[in-house]
Amino acid sequence: ASFGFADVDLGAKQGMVDAVFHKVASRYDLMNDFMSAGLHRVWKDAMVSWLAPPSGRDFEGLDVAGGTGDIAFRIVERSRGRAREIVCDINASMLEVGRERARKRHLDGNVEFIEGNAEELPFASGRFDAYTIAFGIRNVPRIDEALKEAYRVLKPGGRFLCLEFSAVDVPVLDKIYDLYSFHAIPAMGGVVAGDKDSYRYLVESIRRFPHQERFAEMIRRAGFARVEYRNLTGGIAAIHSGWKI
Ligand code: SAM
Repeated sequence: ASFGFADVDLGAKQGMVDAVFHKVASRYDLMNDFMSAGLHRVWKDAMVSWLAPPSGRDFEGLDVAGGTGDIAFRIVERSRGRAREIVCDINASMLEVGRERARKRHLDGNVEFIEGNAEELPFASGRFDAYTIAFGIRNVPRIDEALKEAYRVLKPGGRFLCLEFSAVDVPVLDKIYDLYSFHAIPAMGGVVAGDKDSYRYLVESIRRFPHQERFAEMIRRAGFARVEYRNLTGGIAAIHSGWKI
């Protein structure tokens, strides 16, 4: 079966997303390196650099759709162990892989893993210094609800950062990227993860996601100020930033 995402209702979409990540959880990190040729590490580093978590004072961040912990670990490491992070994800299998990784890196004192939905976060209003979400918001059925929740859980003065696949704005690269994503990614997903359909879904969801300017406008509409974005690798990915003031 292939995922016809245009036709499914929002509740069904979440169910499909959950099935994909339950299935790939144990191979997720390996597949990321493989499919992006390690680029996802560079992009994640860029997001955490832009956040610049302070190493001199207490800082509590929330990483939504945080999966196996990549962003949270980087934030804690960059703060020299001062920051605390909560990884919130809807998928227990991804969180379990994350907990194990945190233990191995001796970061389990700073990083907590909590199951929850980005559209209805299980946290009090005004709690966090930063809200991050990497390659996650695209999977959430109601993006506007997730943005509203991001705004709600941040302290005044808190920072919103979102890393997501975006629209390539470089001639020729866009053609190469189309070929790579429509043909190579599902094929590799078939070989390495035995799961061509999940990776076909991945590519389809990237196509449907709003481009840089439109997404910036959605973030403004959720209440954020000073919204701006930076393209990464010619727009294959982009980081959007905003502030709750
Ligand atoms: N942030 C991690 C990273 O960059 O490696 C994981 C990204 S992974 C591509 C997408 C994650 O979004 C999955 O772990 C999935 O379970 C999670 N997710 C999907 N829908 C969600 C929702 N409604 N609320 C919270 N997390 C969700």
